[in-house]
Amino acid sequence: MSDCIFCKIVDKEIPADIVFEDDQVVAFKDRNPIAPVHILIISKKHILSVREATKEDTLLMGRLIMTAKKISDDLKISKKGYKLLIRVGKGGGQEVDHIHLHLLGGARLSENIHPI
Ligand code: AMP
Ligand code: ZN
Repeated sequence: MSDCIFCKIVDKEIPADIVFEDDQVVAFKDRNPIAPVHILIISKKHILSVREATKEDTLLMGRLIMTAKKISDDLKISKKGYKLLIRVGKGGGQEVDHIHLHLLGGARLSENIHPI
């Protein structure tokens, strides 16, 4: 059994508000949203971060972005625009060590990224 909280969401060991799932990715609502729409798109495969992704993960990385695109269309936020965010490692502010893409939208978003 994995200690990774996002692997537990993939395995349905802990609940999440899942909005999309296929054979390779899961998307669910962030439990602490910072925008009206805040969805996390994760790979089912446990990859620590972009830093640890390999050439074999190239298609999977693209899949994360194309899933965000699909969800933004489904939620009708794509016309106004949205933000995609991937934090990498402690210096990038990453808190959960399982690769995830933030889909942020539903409001005009500022560019504030605070140094830590
Ligand atoms: P990051 O700082 O990029 O690693 O983002 C981690 C995100 O995961 C944060 O926005 C958290 O609010 C979110 N998060 C952590 N645990 C859960 C969970 N169990 N369900 C939903 N979102 C979560
Ligand atoms: Zn994991």
